[in-house]
This record gives sequence, C-alpha cells and structure tokens, in this order.
Amino acid sequence: MIDSQKKTSPMMMQWHACKEAAKTAVLFFRMGDFYEAFYEDAILLSKELDLTLTKRQEIPMAGIPHHSAEGYIDKLIAKGYRVAVAEQTEDPKTVKGLVNREVVRVVTPATVINSSLLNEKSNNFFVAIHESGSTYGIALLDLSTTEFALIEFDSVRDLCSEIYRLRPSEVLVSKKFAGKNSGSLDELKHAFTFLLSEHDDWHFEKQNTYQFLLEQFRVHNLEGFGLKNMTTGICAGGALLQYIRDELCISLESIKEIKTYSTSNFMMLDTISQRNLELTESLNDGSKKNTLLQVLDKTCTPMGSRLIKHWIKQPLMSPGDIQIRQDAVERFHKNSGITEKLVGLLESVRDLERLIMKVISGYAGPRDLVALKSSFENIPEIRTCLFGLSSDSGIIFENAKILDPLESVMQLISRTIVDEPPLKIADGGLIRDGVSPELDELRLINNNSKQWLANYQNELRESTGIKTLKVGFNRMFGYFIEVSKGQVDKMPSFLEKRQTLVNGARYITPELKEYEVKVLTAEERISALETEIFHKVREEIGKHSSRIIEIARAIAVIDVLRSFGEVARAREYVRPVVNDSYALKIDSGRHPVIEASSLSEKFVANDSEMDNEKNRLYLITGPNMAGKSTYLRQVALITIMAQMGSFVPASAAEIGIVDKIFTRIGAGDDLSKGQSTFMVEMTETANILHNASDRSLVILDEIGRGTGTYDGISIARSVAEYLLNTPGKQAKTLFATHYKELTTLEKIHGAVNYTIAVQETKDSVIFLRKIIRGEADKSYGIHVGRLAGLPQEVLARAQEILEYLESRESKKIVFDPPKPKIAPKKKQHSNEYQLSFFS
Ligand code: ADP
Ligand code: MG
Repeated sequence: MIDSQKKTSPMMMQWHACKEAAKTAVLFFRMGDFYEAFYEDAILLSKELDLTLTKRQEIPMAGIPHHSAEGYIDKLIAKGYRVAVAEQTEDPKTVKGLVNREVVRVVTPATVINSSLLNEKSNNFFVAIHESGSTYGIALLDLSTTEFALIEFDSVRDLCSEIYRLRPSEVLVSKKFAGKNSGSLDELKHAFTFLLSEHDDWHFEKQNTYQFLLEQFRVHNLEGFGLKNMTTGICAGGALLQYIRDELCISLESIKEIKTYSTSNFMMLDTISQRNLELTESLNDGSKKNTLLQVLDKTCTPMGSRLIKHWIKQPLMSPGDIQIRQDAVERFHKNSGITEKLVGLLESVRDLERLIMKVISGYAGPRDLVALKSSFENIPEIRTCLFGLSSDSGIIFENAKILDPLESVMQLISRTIVDEPPLKIADGGLIRDGVSPELDELRLINNNSKQWLANYQNELRESTGIKTLKVGFNRMFGYFIEVSKGQVDKMPSFLEKRQTLVNGARYITPELKEYEVKVLTAEERISALETEIFHKVREEIGKHSSRIIEIARAIAVIDVLRSFGEVARAREYVRPVVNDSYALKIDSGRHPVIEASSLSEKFVANDSEMDNEKNRLYLITGPNMAGKSTYLRQVALITIMAQMGSFVPASAAEIGIVDKIFTRIGAGDDLSKGQSTFMVEMTETANILHNASDRSLVILDEIGRGTGTYDGISIARSVAEYLLNTPGKQAKTLFATHYKELTTLEKIHGAVNYTIAVQETKDSVIFLRKIIRGEADKSYGIHVGRLAGLPQEVLARAQEILEYLESRESKKIVFDPPKPKIAPKKKQHSNEYQLSFFS
C-alpha cells in the first residue's frame, strides 16, 4: 500500500487533510497495526523518541506499534508537544479500497485522561482567561474529574494569584489578551510549567459563548448556576469548552455542572505568600517536603489529597463556616477508635472521580470497573462509622447521607465481570460464565475442541481401521484428516480427498468442516460478545456518573476533616476560637513544620498578642539565627490553619478573621530563583501598601536589606509608618529587621518592640528562642561567626574592629527621624504613593 504512495496519492491526501485538522499537533496516522508519522512529524519523532527514520518515495516516515502508542504520546506531551491521533473510522474488512481516517482526539497536557502523566494527588486544570473592561474572568476545567468553574476578578494581580494557586497544565487566551498581558503571562511561566495556547479573539465573544453554554448545559439561562451577574467568566467558559470540543475533539458529555466561587469568600494569599510560606511546595525544590501540606496531609484517598491542597490555599472567611469544619475535626479528634477504623476503610476507596471519568469517556478497562466496585464495598461501613460520630447534623452527617452504596450498579459489575479480569478487553476472559448463554456455548466449543478432535480421530480410526490416521490443523487448509501413502487405498469414499502429499494424502469431511467454522468463528465471536457486554455494563454505570462524583466529593471532605483530626491528636493541636474580632492571640504557638521536622533542639513555643490597637506592629530585632523568620511564619501559618478549619499548634488561640496575608522577604533572604533584586522587593512592598486592610496580616522579613544601609533604613521606616498611620490600612504587621535604628518606632501608637532572647556566655551565645519585649542589645555577628567555624584569628581581628566602631558609635545620636513634612493623607491615593517611591 505504502509503496504506491506519492505525494498526491489518495492516502497522502487523506494524511494532509488530517494534518490540517491537527494544526500544530504532531499527527499519529493509523495504518493497520501502526501509527505512522510523515514529513516533519517523522523527523521530530525520530529525534525526540529515538525512532528509526525511514523513507518511502522520498517522504520521511516513522512508525509506532499501536499497542505501545500511549507511552510514546505521554513522552511527547511531557516534552511540551500536542499529539493528534487519526484513526481508521471504518472497518477495513467491510470497505473496498481506502478506509476513511479522521483525527479522533488531540492529546495535550490538560486533556490526558488515561495516562501515567496524571498525578492522582493534584488536579489537572485547563484554564481559559478573558478580560473585558476592568474585569478578568477565568474558566477552569479538570477533565479527569469533570470539575468546571467560572470565576471573576477585579485585577490582573488577583487573577494571577488564583492561577498560581490552581497550577493549570494548560492555559487558553485570546490573541488580544496575550498581547496585552505578556508580562503577567511571562511571570506565571517563570513560576511553573504550562502550555499556552492562543485563540482568535472572536471565540471569546459574549453572544457566541453564552449561547454555547446554554446549549451545552441544556438550559434557558445560566442563573441556576449562580452566574447571574457574570459576563467575563462566561466568555472564558464558552471559549474553553468550545475549544476543547472543536480543536481537541473531546466530548463534553460528562461536564454537567458549572460551579462558581467568589475569591472574596476566601482569605487572599497572593502568589508570593503562597510560595514564601511553603504551603504546599517547598522553596527549596518544589516538593512537598517540609511544607504545611506535608504536616497536615494524612488523607488516604486521592480525592482527599486533591481537596486538602485547595483547602490549604483557600482559608475561609466566615467564622460560621470555619466552626462547622472545626466541629467535625473535633469529633474525629475525640473518637480515635472510629477515626482509625475509617483509615482502613477509606484506604480501599480508589480514585472514584477519575475512574468514573474514564467510564464516561470510554477509556475504562475491566480492572477499572472492578476497582470501582471494590471501592464501593466499604461504603456502607464508612457510612455507619460516620453516623456513629454524628447522627443529626453537621458536615459529617450531611456528607454521610450522600454515601449511597449504589448496590444495584455495583452488583451489575460483580455479576458480570470476573474478580481478576485482564487489563484490556481484547485480552478476553473478563465476562463471567452464566452472563450470556451464547458466550457460554462458544466457550464450551472452544474449550472442548481438543477433546472433540481426539474423539473424532478415534471414531475415524475405528471406522476405517487405520491406526495411524491423524486429525490435524494448519492455517492454509484448516482442519484435515491425514493418512500415509500406504493407507490411501483403504480410505472409505465418504472422505473427500483434498491434497496429495509426497508421503500421503489429506482429506476432509463435511462434519469436520462444519466444526471448523464453529471453532474458528467462536474465538472471534467470543471476543465480540465480551466487548459488547462490557460496553453495555460500562454505559450503564456511566448513567450514574453524577451520583458517583457526588459520593467521591463527599468522601474527599470526610477524608480531609478526618486527616485534620488525626494530625490534631498526634501533634497536640488545639481548637482555636475564630471570630469577627481583630484579635490575633496565640498562647505557646509553635511552627507546625519546624516542630515536626527532626530538630536537634526542642522547639520553643512563643506567644503573640496582637490586636488593632496598641499591639498592631511587632518590630522584632535580634541577631541572625535567633528565630525571627521562624516566628513570623509561625504566626502566619497558625492563622491560615485556623481559617481552613484545622486545629493549631498552640495551647490556646483566638483568631479574628484575617482577609489577606502578605509576606515579603528582603531581597537578601529570598532564595528562590529570579526574585532577588531590590526592585522586585520594592514593587512587592508597594503592592502591600495598596492592598492591605485593617483585617490583613503583613509579614515583613528584613525588607530594605537589598540596598545601602541608609536607603534600607529609610524605606523600612517609612513603610512601617505608613502601615501604622494610614486609616484603613492599619494591618497587623510583623516586622523583623536587623536595623536596630528602627526600634524608635515604638513611639508611634501601635508599635511594640520585641526581640528574641539570647544568652551570652564567655565567648559564645545561646539562642533561647523566646520572644520577649524589648530590643536586641547586640547583633552577635561575631558569635555566630564562631558557631559557623570562622578561623580564630579572623574572629579576634573582627572583635578588635567592632570595639573600635562601637566606641565611635556611642558618641552618635540615636536615630529618630524628623516628623514628616507632608502629613499622612486621610485617604490614600495609591498611584501617587507608588510614584513617590520610584521617582
Ligand atoms: P533568623 O530569621 O532570626 O535569622 P531563623 O528564624 O531563620 O532565624 O531561625 C534560625 C534557626 O533556628 C532555624 O534553623 C530554626 O529551625 C531554629 N529555630 C527558630 N525558632 C526556633 C524555636 N522557637 N525553637 C527551636 N528552634 C528554632
Ligand atoms: Mg531570618
């Protein structure tokens, strides 16, 4: 077939048509048992996948056996390519001439469903972004769990924070948006890997997208989904689904619901804070190691481990909602027996969301259905456990009610599919005996064929009296009866002679041929029947997808709350009081991650007593290594934990709802890549000053350090003054600095000096790790140098120089800047302030 190809051969014309449909994707073109790639695709495959490049009629080509295609596709996706798969859409047996071929799917990072690339602990989001007026909308879709949501934002900054939180593997924007926001997109690209696609602007138009969503969800308006006042988000949503259907050839059948959420329901954690606080990824290597997630995540289902990531990055804002979660955590905390029992039961629950998605999209194999069934086996017992914890109301009760064992559906699987089926349908033997009489009979024929042939051979030997007569089989002739040359004359006439051999002859009988047809067609028919029955079962289960997804999500919630309860007990956390006050009171608080890591020293607990009055700004001085940064982060983490509904590492705590947490780490301290310039530090600081409110918590760790001393002190001081004095921006602030000069800030109402105690011994220093009122008396740099092993003579010389400098210093006046010439404005004007920073 291939030999006759020319560039214009019908086959190649078909290829060109598919290639056009595939657009920028690499085309896998099905030809019999192979996927072939031609031209530049072939060259690319040979380079990226190490495949042999061949040439036919001057056309470069490379081939992949169809059964190993998934692995190669995964590799290409991981390398950032898209892959279009063109299949034969007709059965070659029934078509004369060229079979039709079409692109049936385009695989991209966000559309892999049945792949080793999917990490069961994270969502795999596809996000579309749209901008209109001053509103930014995003649509997010996780095809592997069918989650689809639309959200809107007022600023590109909030939009980016949310995208950073979601970590999509693919982002779709209009060409216009890409042109206008290339800076923001670059920033995101710098932070994590995703595939960016640009689409013509008209795809995002309101009319078209709105209509598309109405048709997709079969409704007359979108108000039922809570999207009454939304437009930008809807544009993004319609564009995204249409793109996925039309460009990537993916069925939208399974997407049945649009969700929306307002980010104002959650504490705002901007991109930098998400990173600096190491909530789910360490700054060090991006792994889960030494993160808050690692400490809190004791979930035992994939659904739970995905949900806990969201909860950590989306702390709640309503004390009522938080208390509802706390009530549940408390139940799990107190009932260790039931909680432990639940672990065992939940561990047997597989990834229901992704299993059902595979069912709906037709990728589920026999083992997936069995996994689904065995996951449901423990549901009744899980439900009983949960009712045992909470029998009338609350989040545990509400979710327990959703846990329907779906007995009839699961029985269908156990009745039909064998307990340990093969991986693929084509491997056969997956349908139980007794399901289909026809299948049973065919199997009998198949299994008994050896016996039947042996019996038949014996019968013939007896009736002919030829002891050496054999019944045999080959591909050419099928079944035959063979005798040697000397016996040919003895053969009775009812045997039909078919072939004369050198040493004998071969015969057939109508009986044997009839049997042959039966046996040979049996295998084919068995395979077809098994496939048909399996597809029917799969389809039937697909009808219950909404219920199964609901159950999966209920299990996720239970799993996370149980995990919080387990950690609270193991680590001796307490239930914080969360209310609408402005308090931030922590008794004996600990850093959840550092206390859990194997420290050489015992973690020293510290208090915090912030409010919106006298204790608004903690100015924390102290030598390097004293524990300032740790304390700052500990307060922020405890606040986040409290608002996500978890218990906290403290002996008691009262947290008035915090709306935003800002974290800035001075340039010198920021280890993460690409963020080490003073300019970045200042831009970030400007952002805090614009966006902080009285309800915010601001963490400033050694800001101003990336520049000259006087600049640094001056900027740090004026930032602190601004936060202390500007109405509406009087956020609670934890300010760690090594500029001792700043301690005179205490004169301003709201600022309090703290330091972390150290004890000086003869020639060394012991860090006591205890935060106390007052200011650092010294910086102990030389002591730290000694601890770090600097040579003795360097230390001695440093001591000399220090004494000289200190003697000069003592003659100087204490740093106490003049009163501002321009009085702070009552209402701040954001742009003006920013200008005054940089002009
Ligand atoms: P600083 O910011 O003042 O230079 P860090 O917060 O980086 O100091 O802390 C220095 C080291 O001290 C860290 O390795 C940390 O593990 C340890 N540390 C900090 N606070 C405590 C504490 N309260 N108890 C025990 N170890 C602590
Ligand atoms: Mg520090």
